[in-house]
Amino acid sequence: MARPQLPETSPGQLRAKQAWNAGLIGTGRDSAGLPVVAPCTVGACASPAVSDQAPAAGLVQVAGSADGAAAHWYCNGRCAAIARARAELRTIPTRPGGDR
Ligand SMILES: [Zn+2]
Repeated sequence: MARPQLPETSPGQLRAKQAWNAGLIGTGRDSAGLPVVAPCTVGACASPAVSDQAPAAGLVQVAGSADGAAAHWYCNGRCAAIARARAELRTIPTRPGGDR
């Protein structure tokens, strides 16, 4: 799906567009048909870490945030990276003084 955009028809706009495209002209290639959000298909992914034993092979334990969120097991890779990022985001206070 192409996003809407204003027409770029003036000579200056066309020159700027060509400079931006490193001199290339014509229509660009189609965007990759990859979904932005892909559901994880690993059943034990995101299960709470009740012990140090991984519930399935290939899972890594990701610590929760310092404010008490529990640690969980995630697939090594995309899911674990997202979980680590979420834990980091939870450490950012949203109000002065640290309250949420
Ligand atoms: Zn996963």
